[in-house]
Order: sequence, then C-alpha cells, then structure tokens
Amino acid sequence: MFESWLLNNYNQFKQSLSLNHTANSIIIAGDPSLGISKLVLKIASLYLCSDRIENEQCNNCKSCQLLQAEENPTHPDLLFLLPSGANSKEKSEDNESSSVEPVTHSIEDFINDMDYDLNHLETFQTGGVRQIRVEDVKSFCDWIMQGSVLANGKVAVISNAHLLNESSANALLKTFEEPPADTLIVLVTKSFDELPATILSRAMKMQVKSVLGDEAKRFLQYHYKDEYDEGRAEIALTLANNSPYKAIALYNQGLDLKCSCIISLIDDVYSGKKSENELIQALESTQEQQRYMILKEFILELLKYKARISIDNLPFMKKVNAASLGSIRAEVLFRASDAVEDLKPVKTGIPQRAPNSVLRSFVELLLSGRN
Ligand SMILES: [Zn+2]
Repeated sequence: MFESWLLNNYNQFKQSLSLNHTANSIIIAGDPSLGISKLVLKIASLYLCSDRIENEQCNNCKSCQLLQAEENPTHPDLLFLLPSGANSKEKSEDNESSSVEPVTHSIEDFINDMDYDLNHLETFQTGGVRQIRVEDVKSFCDWIMQGSVLANGKVAVISNAHLLNESSANALLKTFEEPPADTLIVLVTKSFDELPATILSRAMKMQVKSVLGDEAKRFLQYHYKDEYDEGRAEIALTLANNSPYKAIALYNQGLDLKCSCIISLIDDVYSGKKSENELIQALESTQEQQRYMILKEFILELLKYKARISIDNLPFMKKVNAASLGSIRAEVLFRASDAVEDLKPVKTGIPQRAPNSVLRSFVELLLSGRN
C-alpha cells in the first residue's frame, strides 16, 4: 500500500512527467518520518522505467526489476548522497553501521538514513553532528556527469540535504544549475528554509504536508489490524505529532503506555491519592527526551482543554479527571509551559540528566495551581 498522504505529491510528479514538464531538479521538504523515502523511490522508479504504461511504471522492465529486488536492491543509474559523521558517534562494537558509504547505490542505506530520527528515538541522537561533506558532493557530481548504464536516464538523490554545509552547497551548485538532460536530481530536506536561496531557486519544490488525524488513525488501524487499540493509537499519534511511522515506533516501544501512567499519576497526586515524591521518582526514571515530550504535550492539552477544545480531540485528557486537572489556573499552565523547556535535553547527542531540582520545581509549580 502506498501511503495515502504521499499520493498528491506523487501525482504532481507524474503529471509533470506526462506533460514533459519535469524539472531537472526537485526539492522535497517535510518530516522524514512521514515516509518520504518511499515517495523518492516511487518517483525514481517511474522516471527510470523504460516502458511506462499510461504514466505508471511497468513493473516489468530491467529497471523496475532491479528496484523491486527482494534483497538489498540497487540500480546502476540511481545514486544516493548521504550525510556522514554520526556513525563515528555510535558504539565502536557496532562495526556494520560505520561501514555505510556516503555515496552509494544501496537503497537500504538511503532508507536507513531517512529513518535516522526514527531509529534513534530512544537515545535522542540528533542529526546535528552529521554533515554532507564537500568531497562526497564532488564524487556525487562526477557521477552525474557520466552517461547512464541502462540508457534510460539517471536519478541522483541527496538525503537530508539540510545537512549540506556552505562549501558542500557551493560544490553542488554548478551541477545543480546545469545537470545533463536525462538526469533528475532530488534533494530531500526537513524544510525549504534550511537550504541556501541559490539552490532553492533552481528546482521544482514539493512540500509533503502533515497527516490529518483520521487518516493517520486509519493507517495505524491498517498496520495493527486486530491488535489495534484506539486509545493507545491516539496517544502515540499525539506524541508523534501525527506522523504515522513515528507513532508506530513509539507504540512499539510502549511510550504511549508510559505516558498514560505518568498522566494518571499526576492526576492521582493532584487529587491527593499519591504523593509528590512518587511522581518525581516516576519522572526521574523516564528517559529525558521522552519525559520532555510527555510533559510538554500534557501541558499543551491542559491549555487546549481550558480553551474549551472538545475532549474528544484531547487523548491525554480522556485518561484523567479532566474537570479536576482542568481547574489548574491558566497562568500556572503558561508558566509551566515555559518551565518545561528547562527539561529539554541539550542537543549534544550525549545524554545529560536534568538536575533533580529542575524537575522538582517543575512539579511544584504544576501542583501550585491547585485550587
Ligand atoms: Zn519498468
């Protein structure tokens, strides 16, 4: 099944291809956890197919077969440029991941790179230490200038293009401005703002929009079939900002369950059934990025509740005595929503425990809103 929320973007490309209006370069922007790698591969497959039938790939030609290979598919006319740097941060015994080549034909390595944030949810390694190196851009551009192997065009993809630094962006510019006629260059970025204007002005721009609540829920329902639990899905999607793949990763890790435990505990402390210390201990034993996500979203939902947004749209509030927690004064919630930022992990990739006192004062602030 091709993701419903990517269809508009794919159709946009398909249409430009059928009208022979395809730009030589496309920039795709959006949250990588929306499955943008699938969109890129679908676009590349269609472009490289030698025998398109009514504007769809034939699934039968040499090119289509190569791309649909079961094991480690590669295509000689499809190349990926990946950022490097993060692998050196990974544990040294993990030799396999440090062998990833930044300029590669490996579709698997491209997908893993696009799923970087999803694969690092637990440890909260950020993409900040990674960069697209200028020497890799140069070999990537050299490849673009060569002829194609199957004689049906070439596709060159830059994954996480927001990690281009100034000199690597400059090294790309000339090829990007004047690629060979039968070549499609695709840049994938988290947002257009993170690319230099010189690059932006040269390409067709495609924004992958965020997924609507019901569509995201339907995807999770389809994914989990009989195991699907609507309450859990709603919490996971809220934590994942409605990204279905991220929600699945969080759901599989049980983060939604941990989240439900913590908000029930806040509810119990609020009504005097449990002690403040129990809550602080539970928060301390939660991984810091997860704790930050849960508390931030919880405060936001409380504010939405106070703004009279229907409880049907507030999955966290469904889990608690909303009338009681809803009595926390708005001014306290506004202060808490500032204070929760002090609990945000520092983006070094090195886990840093928020000092106990910051957490304690956050809890005290929240409880001070009791009437
Ligand atoms: Zn084909």
